[in-house]
Amino acid sequence: MTIRHHPHELHLARLASGLLDPALALVVQAHIDRCPGCEADIEVLTATGGVLLEDLPPAQLGDEALARALARIDTPEMAQPPLPPMRRHRIAGGIWYRPLYHGRDGARAYELNVPAGRQMPEHRHSGQEWVCVLHGSFVDRTGHYAEGDFVECGEELEHGPRADPDQDCLCLIASTGPMRMRRLIPRAFQLFLQL
Ligand SMILES: [Zn+2]
Repeated sequence: MTIRHHPHELHLARLASGLLDPALALVVQAHIDRCPGCEADIEVLTATGGVLLEDLPPAQLGDEALARALARIDTPEMAQPPLPPMRRHRIAGGIWYRPLYHGRDGARAYELNVPAGRQMPEHRHSGQEWVCVLHGSFVDRTGHYAEGDFVECGEELEHGPRADPDQDCLCLIASTGPMRMRRLIPRAFQLFLQL
C-alpha cells in the first residue's frame, strides 16, 4: 500500500489536541492507522502538545469560559463514544452506506461502498467532506485515490467519484453538511437517506 495523500498537519495537531469534530476525527484516525508517517507525526504532536501550550503567551479568559467548557464536557456528544456500526442501507446500483456517527451539530460519519466501475452522481457539499479510502480506489476530477489515502473536499468542489474497474471501493466519510446532488433523482435519494 502506497499512500500519497495525507491530512494537513493542522488536522493532525487538532486531533492530538482533542479539538477535531468526532466525525472528522474518525476519518483522520482511519488514515493514521494505515500511515506510519502520520502515526509518527501524531505521536510527536501528542507528546509535545503540552510543551507548545506552555510556550504560548498567557491570554485572558472571558468570565463564561469555564462554565462553557464544563457544559460542553457534560453534553451527550462529548460524553458518549461513537455509535456501534449500524446496518447497511442500499441506495441503488449496488451502492450502499452504513452510518457510524451522527453528531448533535449535524456532522456525520459513514461508510460508503461503490461497486467496481460505478460512478456516484455529480454533487457538491454544503460543508467539509473528509474521506479515507478503506479498500479499493476511485478517481474524480481532483485525482486518483487508493487505499489509505486521505481526501478533503470543500464546498467549492463538484465531483462524481468513480470506483476503479478492478474492485469495489469502500470509503469512510465524514461530512459537516449534506451533499447537494445536481440531478433530481439522486437528490431524492439523498434527502430520503439524509446523506
Ligand atoms: Zn499520512
